[in-house]
Amino acid sequence: MPPAHPFDDDKLKEECGIFGVIGLSDAANFVALGLHALQHRGQEAGGIVAHDPEQGFNSVRRFGYVRDNFTDESVMQTLPGALAIGHVRYSTAGSKGQTAIRDVQPFFGEFSMGGAAIAHNGNITNANSLRRELIDRGSIFQSSSDSECIIHLMARSMGRSIPDRMEEALRKVEGAFSVVAMTRTKLIGVRDPLGVRPLVLGQVGDGWVLSSETCALDIIGARFIREIEPGEMVVINDKGVQSHFPFRPAKSRFCIFEHVYFSRPDSILGGRSVYETRRQIGVELAKEAPVDADLVCPVPDSGTPAAIGFSQESGIPYAMGIIRNQYMGRTFIEPTEQIRNMGVRLKLNVNRALIEGKRVILVDDSVVRGTTSRKIKEMILDAGAAEVHFRIASPPTAWPCFYGVDTPQREKLLAATMSEEEMRNHLAVDSLRFISLDGLYRAVGEAGGRDPKAPAYCDACFSGEYPVEPADMLEQGFQLKTAAE
Ligand code: SF4
Repeated sequence: MPPAHPFDDDKLKEECGIFGVIGLSDAANFVALGLHALQHRGQEAGGIVAHDPEQGFNSVRRFGYVRDNFTDESVMQTLPGALAIGHVRYSTAGSKGQTAIRDVQPFFGEFSMGGAAIAHNGNITNANSLRRELIDRGSIFQSSSDSECIIHLMARSMGRSIPDRMEEALRKVEGAFSVVAMTRTKLIGVRDPLGVRPLVLGQVGDGWVLSSETCALDIIGARFIREIEPGEMVVINDKGVQSHFPFRPAKSRFCIFEHVYFSRPDSILGGRSVYETRRQIGVELAKEAPVDADLVCPVPDSGTPAAIGFSQESGIPYAMGIIRNQYMGRTFIEPTEQIRNMGVRLKLNVNRALIEGKRVILVDDSVVRGTTSRKIKEMILDAGAAEVHFRIASPPTAWPCFYGVDTPQREKLLAATMSEEEMRNHLAVDSLRFISLDGLYRAVGEAGGRDPKAPAYCDACFSGEYPVEPADMLEQGFQLKTAAE
């Protein structure tokens, strides 16, 4: 398993990336490349299922990085065929933090009309009740993953084809799902009615591709065709792409945090460059929260585009005040307790010559627990900065995500228990400002800001307004936002 990095407890983590290919020989090699480009969405484990008419379905599921598991010729030779899907995961519901190999996707099911494999990005918010019901009716679960419910619901369906069964199964599922699935002859892609998680369609030669993000199309030279629409199911075979909308129509609520942090800056989301949106967030932030200072420095790498935007709007010079060590690998044994903040120092170092005596604006993408922000501030002050001002490219993260992103419990989120001024005191910085929710909406292209009656995005981790009721969590005692909050 890849080593934990020093920010693991202080960043929200996307839990999955999915990728599928049909119509290209050695499809699994394309899937491995696609998953490599999606590695930022999940680093704990990955899997590929491929189908070959002579050899049937084959799968490889491993812990660790794609580059360490799916580059070996002897492994890839076990995955022949022109149809393959794959999945990278952080850890979804179930064995959080301790992925068991049985929880690694894609999952496979054998049905009377043939086998099918599925890979899921998102989180099923009624998985507990579905699982209980399925177990009562005789289903035997292999994993602790919420995604396995889909396979069991398909097994119970009376649908005549696998796409029919998948459609019926997904109608019973609540929450966020982008799914890539395959039969012996078809590649299938589905997005939940709100379209919370991304899924795009691409084409390369005679082949078709489904991917969480466009950056993974680029790596295999595929052309971006379009996004799969919220609530859409596409079934792709050698005759082309068939599309239909099996769910009750709903207003789209794409995850706004994909724009802020999860997606790669070279991806296109909703027709917009993620990099450009992040730069625009910096512009909005500079307008909303100006401050007199000498330098604007990003917390690398995710704060970089917003810091560039902040600098352009404010006229304050942009500088690489913090340098990231590209070769952060294993966790070292700490030689002495005197090396303060060693975890952070392994990954980041302050450019002392630049920082000394300067009033520094640090731009970061988010504050979750605040532990990393404190350490970075200390490093900047140790290097002789005169002042430290934090500017954050997302609103305060005060609510957990139940739609496929790993978030600490609500009590652990700094913004859930403190006001902005209390957070500033806690971090002991000269100033701390977050972009407003309206400012964030403007940056993603909603000129009028957030429409409180009908928000265009899911922003529950900031607003506490959940577009899909988190049924399982409510059952476990989670309290929704009250009118007074
Ligand atoms: S709660 Fe936050 S992270 Fe989760 S889907 Fe909504 S916007 Fe995205």
